[in-house]
Amino acid sequence: MDSLFTKIINREIPAEIIYEDDQVIAFNDINPQAPFHALIVPKKHIATLNDISSEDESLVGHMIKTAAVIAEREGFAETGYRTVFNCNEHGGQTVYHIHLHLLGGKPMGWPPY
Ligand code: C5P
Repeated sequence: MDSLFTKIINREIPAEIIYEDDQVIAFNDINPQAPFHALIVPKKHIATLNDISSEDESLVGHMIKTAAVIAEREGFAETGYRTVFNCNEHGGQTVYHIHLHLLGGKPMGWPPY
């Protein structure tokens, strides 16, 4: 059974795709928590951060670099932004295919709860 995000990657479920390459896809979050809120998702299915293997390390680095590239493109790299990986129940993870949240366009508080 494909994950929800694999279905987006395969164009079986619609999404506003804002970036794609051979390793990752990025699309606008359907329920944005900031003026700009996108998800960077690897094309390889990895359920949680706990499932990342050593061979995935460059892929995860590419996800983070992609977030920085999109922030620059969107014009909020200098003012700042937030990136978040949620993991499992206490982390607030609801989709079990790792994804990096990229939020920008307003000042954000800390801690995030
Ligand atoms: O970190 P977490 O697993 O909670 O994040 C999942 C995110 O996926 C949510 O922010 C939700 O709004 C988003 N989502 C989406 N498109 C869908 C289903 C969920 O952008 N079709």
